[in-house]
Amino acid sequence: MDEAVKMYELQRVDLTRMKVVRRLQQLQALLGESDELRSARQQVAQAEAELREWNAKQKNAELEDKSLAERIKSTEERLMSGVVRNAKELEALQQSLEALRRHRETVAEEGVKAMTEAETLAEQLEGYRSALASLESGWNGNQTELREEETKLKHNGALLQRKREQLAAGMGETLRDRYETMRKRKAGVAIASVQNGICSACHVAIPTGVVNGLRGATTLVICPSCGRYLVPSNS
Ligand SMILES: [Zn+2]
Repeated sequence: MDEAVKMYELQRVDLTRMKVVRRLQQLQALLGESDELRSARQQVAQAEAELREWNAKQKNAELEDKSLAERIKSTEERLMSGVVRNAKELEALQQSLEALRRHRETVAEEGVKAMTEAETLAEQLEGYRSALASLESGWNGNQTELREEETKLKHNGALLQRKREQLAAGMGETLRDRYETMRKRKAGVAIASVQNGICSACHVAIPTGVVNGLRGATTLVICPSCGRYLVPSNS
């Protein structure tokens, strides 16, 4: 029975270790940026780039408007100055003035369009930024928790590993081999406790004779139903 108790102890540690390993694997997948966060970041970056473009267009329109205004002014002055008297030349100046004015109108329209676009985009961008901020704060909080859990689990895992080494060292090679062999064959559960005459692994009732013989047994007893080693319930 002593052997069964030792084996059961080791299994308890191994099962806990497996849980720790599985959870650590889950955490690996959870740590890092989510797709949602990545796409929110992209949305902000894209809107910012577009906004810069429209702002630049607006700025260009303003500069062009200024230079056109100057050219219009000097053309008007030349027309009014009386220096040019030749009719053809005057007509050409007049035409050039009209062309400049038309061009200025077009530029002004472009400027207004750029301004309107920039305003709409700036508003959208504000929305995108606040959505990103709330995602980020949720993500940061979550990541901190997950990192803390990871640290704790790694620590526990190391403790369990040490515990396992101690238990395995106190077992003897034959018993250890029996445990490892059975564990591989029986989905990680080599030994089962008997509770109210029932095997805790396969949930089948064990004959009374086997149950009664368990406490005083000097060798390992096997469940007649699932073939695992057995240990009394309060071990
Ligand atoms: Zn069984």
